[in-house]
Amino acid sequence: MIDLHTHTVYSDGELIPAELTRRAAVAGYRAMAITDHGDFSNFDLIIPRLVRVAAELGEAWGLTVLPGIELTHIPPAMIAAAAREVRALGAKIVVCHGETIVEPVAAGTNRAALEADIDILSHPGLITAAEAALAAERGICLEITTRKGHCLTNGHVARMALAAGTRLVINNDAHAPGDLVSPEMARKVALGAGLTEEQYEQCRRNSEELVKKVLK
Ligand SMILES: [Zn+2]
Ligand SMILES: [Zn+2]
Repeated sequence: MIDLHTHTVYSDGELIPAELTRRAAVAGYRAMAITDHGDFSNFDLIIPRLVRVAAELGEAWGLTVLPGIELTHIPPAMIAAAAREVRALGAKIVVCHGETIVEPVAAGTNRAALEADIDILSHPGLITAAEAALAAERGICLEITTRKGHCLTNGHVARMALAAGTRLVINNDAHAPGDLVSPEMARKVALGAGLTEEQYEQCRRNSEELVKKVLK
């Protein structure tokens, strides 16, 4: 299992990085990114601390740990600059908190994120066909999520991504130990979003390729 979208006490998660990564390793995860909610007030607080521990925790527990960030509720016009800043601070996986239907994320966030230097647009809600095509063109992954609330539009996201040829990844958006779902549950959520078994396997390969690309 790979989860490229997780939260610790650096935002609204329950665990510190050492415990989250330990629990993920024990649950059989091979790789994970820690992507706490960030804006311009806390990028420099969070990212250097994750960079400080990622490699050594990964080595200790036997999994790949990537320092990242989830650009969250950033005004759309500022997203590109935010992505540049977090890359400079050492974020390896840059997620942008997309237009989930369960929060008042600003309209235009999906598009601004897809025009910026990000890796994954998380829970993009009622993403349009044109935005899915832009994601495909820019090599940005869209997310199928096992997280409650955000998962309500998984079926729509899957349909848009498959029609546009956009890569999909499955993430847990884990905030607490119970959110680190089993491979079996992730598979069921993918099938529930309308993916075939083969398309689910492709999602797993997409996550693996993204990890490989980042480590190069
Ligand atoms: Zn989010
Ligand atoms: Zn999140």
